Amino acid sequence: MNAHAQTAPSTARTALVIHGGAGFVPKETLSAADEKDYRDTLNRALDAGNAVLQKGGAAIDAVEAAILVMEESPRFNAGKGAVFNAKGGHELDASIMEGHTRRAGAVAGVTTVRNPIKLARAVMERSPHVMLAGAGAEAFADTQKDIERVPNTWFDTPMRRKQLEEAQKKEAAQKAAVIQGDDGNVRRYLGTVGAVALDKAGHIAAGTSTGGMTNKRWGRVGDSPIIGAGTWADERCGVSGTGWGEFYIRANAARDICARVEYTNVPLQKAAEEVINKIIPAMGGDGGAIALDRDGNIALPFNSGSMFRGWIRPDGSRGVAIHED
Ligand code: ASP
Repeated sequence: MNAHAQTAPSTARTALVIHGGAGFVPKETLSAADEKDYRDTLNRALDAGNAVLQKGGAAIDAVEAAILVMEESPRFNAGKGAVFNAKGGHELDASIMEGHTRRAGAVAGVTTVRNPIKLARAVMERSPHVMLAGAGAEAFADTQKDIERVPNTWFDTPMRRKQLEEAQKKEAAQKAAVIQGDDGNVRRYLGTVGAVALDKAGHIAAGTSTGGMTNKRWGRVGDSPIIGAGTWADERCGVSGTGWGEFYIRANAARDICARVEYTNVPLQKAAEEVINKIIPAMGGDGGAIALDRDGNIALPFNSGSMFRGWIRPDGSRGVAIHED
């Protein structure tokens, strides 16, 4: 357990929010069996994080536990099941942040790390740095006994292969050399995972893990490993974003949500909606975010048609959802 975990009064309230990616999954394309599996996996991720919180564990441990479940699932675009880049391989990004200490760790473009969220945490706790990328991150992983390694092909799944082929066909048809604009039916992103937790000590942590966007250029880094863009946690607020990463970087989306709460004292819901439903779309981007504050308020806005998500409020009420339901 993390050093910051503290025994808290039994009246202390915890909260947990998770996402399994924003994007658009038309209801009719999701079979009952697939939907059940997505929901079951989200519930398992909630259970894993909540077990930590109920024991009085640290928010950062809960975030890692919830994300690990989703990284291990081939359903989500993180760990096993990560999307393919344009070269037919996988480059994974992840980050984690602890609010009350403002410590953070991140990795970008890793190719053999089974659970990038664990390596991001190792960077935070066992290196003097915040972010390690590419070969340097792999070399750091070599020095960490508990970081499991896999061949890059281990991340392959038929569903992501199909998405790559569709994206490349579409790109060839459009003769588009770079990622730009709306790509119609081709889903470039979907399934990034994230978690934000409030523990009994009143501490907040957030984390995000992804394979990035389908058919991304080799070397492309999205928002997910960038502190402030895809992940943020401070003393009063935490956020994990999912969506078209370039826009989340340019909007400093995760930090902007919490900065609004801090500077203008607006309710979390309003702050999150302003960034996700106004600022990002006005720039031409789309996606969603999960957020919570130290009072246990939660916000789960998205502008992309659907977002796999789950929540447990301080009163213990919980749910998972995919569409606007
Ligand atoms: N934000 C991620 C990225 O751009 C993708 C996602 O959220 O699905 O890499």
